[in-house]
Amino acid sequence: GTAAEFWATAHRHLIRYARNDFTPAIIERAAGSHVFDSDGRAILDFTSGQMSALLGHSHPAIVESVRHSAGTLDHLFSWMLSRPVVDLAAALAGTLPPPLGKVMLLSTGGESNEAAIRMAKLYTGGHEIVAFDRSYHGVTHASSAATYGVSRAGYGPVAPGNIVVPTPNPYRPLFRRDGRHDWRAELDHAFAMVDRQSVGSLAAFIAEPILSTGGVIDLPPGYLAALKGKCADRGMLLILDEAQTGLCRTGDWYAFQRDGVVPDLLTLSKTLGAGLPLSAVITSDEIEARCHERGFYFGTTHVSDPLPAAVGRTVVDVLARGGFDATARRLGDRLHRGLLDLRTRHDRIGDVRGRGLLQGIEFVTDRESKDPANDFGAAVTDACFGLGLHLNIVQFPGSSSILRLAPPLTITDAELDRGLDILDQALTTVTG
Ligand code: PMP
Repeated sequence: GTAAEFWATAHRHLIRYARNDFTPAIIERAAGSHVFDSDGRAILDFTSGQMSALLGHSHPAIVESVRHSAGTLDHLFSWMLSRPVVDLAAALAGTLPPPLGKVMLLSTGGESNEAAIRMAKLYTGGHEIVAFDRSYHGVTHASSAATYGVSRAGYGPVAPGNIVVPTPNPYRPLFRRDGRHDWRAELDHAFAMVDRQSVGSLAAFIAEPILSTGGVIDLPPGYLAALKGKCADRGMLLILDEAQTGLCRTGDWYAFQRDGVVPDLLTLSKTLGAGLPLSAVITSDEIEARCHERGFYFGTTHVSDPLPAAVGRTVVDVLARGGFDATARRLGDRLHRGLLDLRTRHDRIGDVRGRGLLQGIEFVTDRESKDPANDFGAAVTDACFGLGLHLNIVQFPGSSSILRLAPPLTITDAELDRGLDILDQALTTVTG
């Protein structure tokens, strides 16, 4: 059919699941760092699909893994085991510090956080879940109750016992000491809020090491260790959600490794399946054993499915063999330097931040006031798209002042530089 027919059918039959419009292109194909539309236009993919195509699109090893698994071992009864599942669990444990060695494989990020929250509740006997006010953990019941980075309006009361605390934001500190971000004071303040709101039933603090959807906000070095201490003091668990940051994207296998902290529960999703639906909850023997004794249940349809597990195993192998943690660090430095260079020429760029190949730009009306340039990001992303670069805005409804850049780890230097050139052109057009 024609493009007009495509859009007419789309509008007649699709439920709109977000406030923004669908991207104005019919995507026919995706390969490597590009997606191709129905006019044959190549569009650089600086969102890695939905932050998941970690190894680019149609990576040959993944294609082969899907083909082989689909033809030999696709899907099984939830309590039936196969080698790909056990192999991936062992491979993941091999990438993690002890005591993180017990693994459950699921399909989506929301689901993995749902499961981790259930485990924290069973383990502690508490039910209260604390999260940052710019968090994103999913749209399932418990994961959305701990999600404050997008609008919560219209769905009625969420789970009782959810506590929200301010996000430490180095670009916009709440507290300063000697002119510098005093995140320790902010952490104390956050826990004063927790202690005031809690009814004495704390189960867990759930956090992203870099709050990606909340604005690519990297928790200050040292924060996670101090946070873990505060949790331990209260007998609550620390759940880290590495949906976007896990599996080498930030230049380490896991973002928490920079801080030398080990979470009680770790969730992985997006990057683990490199584009296929696969997620994991990972914890210690001790937490797993107590949850099991207390009747832990999470028997979903696709738990321990062999096909996505085989893909996950391939992802871990490709990352390990290719030394992609170092690759992400090198390319991330190149991207970050390129963005800092753009900052010298475009005064709407207030801040450039991020780690490895997860970078963000915050637009401001001027660098002194740091007032968010609310519509600017949308104009820039539209201009970029017209020039052949897809990237996205991460911010609250009503503001488009923060852009995220997260290309696949397989991107070439030339593709990365081309993306920066397009962004430079777009910034020139939009301000000029
Ligand atoms: N956690 C984080 C940190 C995420 O970014 C996302 C997705 N944006 C989720 C959880 C939810 O994952 P899913 O959409 O696969 O449920």
